[in-house]
Amino acid sequence: MNPPEAHLIEPGVILLAIESPGDRVCIEQTLGSRHRLLHAQSGEDVLPLAVANKPDLILLDRLASPLDGYALCAYLKAEPQTAHLPVILLAASRVCADEVRGLELGAIDYLAKPVDPDILLARVHNHLALKRIQDHLEATNRHLASLATTDTLTGLVNRRGLLARLEAEHARSQRTQHPFALAICDLDYFKRVNDTYGHAAGDQVLASFAATLRENLRTIDLAARWGGEEFAILFPESSARDAVVPLERLRQAVAALRIHHAGQAMTVTVSIGVAEYCIGDDLIEHLLERADTALYAAKSGGRNRVVRSTTQTHHDACSLACFKLVWHAHYASGHPLIDAQHQGLFQDANELLIAILEAHPNAQIVTLAERLLTDTVAHFKDEEAVLRTFDYPELEAHQVIHAALVARGIELFEALRRGEGEPGVWFQFLAHEVVVQHMLQVDRDYFPLLAGHTDAPAS
Ligand code: GH3
Ligand code: MG
Ligand code: MG
Repeated sequence: MNPPEAHLIEPGVILLAIESPGDRVCIEQTLGSRHRLLHAQSGEDVLPLAVANKPDLILLDRLASPLDGYALCAYLKAEPQTAHLPVILLAASRVCADEVRGLELGAIDYLAKPVDPDILLARVHNHLALKRIQDHLEATNRHLASLATTDTLTGLVNRRGLLARLEAEHARSQRTQHPFALAICDLDYFKRVNDTYGHAAGDQVLASFAATLRENLRTIDLAARWGGEEFAILFPESSARDAVVPLERLRQAVAALRIHHAGQAMTVTVSIGVAEYCIGDDLIEHLLERADTALYAAKSGGRNRVVRSTTQTHHDACSLACFKLVWHAHYASGHPLIDAQHQGLFQDANELLIAILEAHPNAQIVTLAERLLTDTVAHFKDEEAVLRTFDYPELEAHQVIHAALVARGIELFEALRRGEGEPGVWFQFLAHEVVVQHMLQVDRDYFPLLAGHTDAPAS
């Protein structure tokens, strides 16, 4: 390679550690007009000056220091902040063994003294040109790495990639109000895997988990390595409730995995928190926080489970608020006891609705659900007594319906009390099936019989 023409070389910063005044003058005259020269007064100055100024090149000679040029070079190469800086060694002679030793220590070149100005200039400019190329390549690599959206270990999209998709999905949902859900998965006690089987085994578990993720998701869902042993999944066009189904399937598939490494079979479980986009979520961080809170609940609830965010979402609020029971005069049967009880049940159901909407503690929801159930049972009994006095011909069939509703209500209530039931499902049953469908539709069959009667007919 021909030396680059001097005028094409950009001025550089060169750190000099030169002992002899003659050499120093020669070097200053040769390089000083084009480049910025820094002078180390002693061997001890070299490292701090190099760290502070990040020179493009270092010229090292012996200095009045216990360290000779070789030792200084080794010292700079051992220090992470300066290891990459090119060093040219100056030495009194071109003894082959000395030159080899200097190059083996990491020096990029070796110059014999007394320094010849032309050779010095040509070599310095060659190395500055190489340093420019190297800096450029490093900057390009850093840029490419930051642009990359794939995690190398798992082959999944990385956090950066998922965040870009989340932002796009979020913007779309703000326009269209379409739902989407986000899950965060964290492997349980993963540190123990590393501690017991080693880091390479841990990496294999991460890769196997990623493969299981891919197998258990739809093609439109996007799974990403969120960082370390955390993964995130975007479910477009899904509510958090929809996402629970594939997530539960994933959880079970992970728990069933046997991951073989160096003759050992490892197992792992995963905790998952999932939340959905809410209308009015102006920042994606709000959704991330809810998913994270649900993940925390999964961890503190015993791990190896899927927890859906209980924070009220706009979708829930809208559908449940639309569902809120409002009493109308035409719901009245005309019988004071039955009408008072029907209105009381509306009231019970609405209080339960508010508790669910505001995510009250389960114990409170259970208490309100129990009151609704007890009042419903009492009301059925009173209603049957009233209908009997009116010789209602469908009484027996009506009693059968009541009994079936009560049996189903008790079954759902027991599940709710054990912490297994979904408050929303229970509410749907009691408020919708019992109160709305039964009382306002089925019961209407006997309303004509009672119309105008404020009491049981005289026998
Ligand atoms: P928890 O159930 O509470 O989540 O416990 P944990 O042990 O999984 O959580 P913790 O945050 O204490 O430990 C996570 C570990 O994951 C620590 C870290 O060394 C390990 N880890 C993170 N990234 C990697 C990786 O790329 N490879 C391997 N092998 N381990 C990793
Ligand atoms: Mg973690
Ligand atoms: Mg973990």
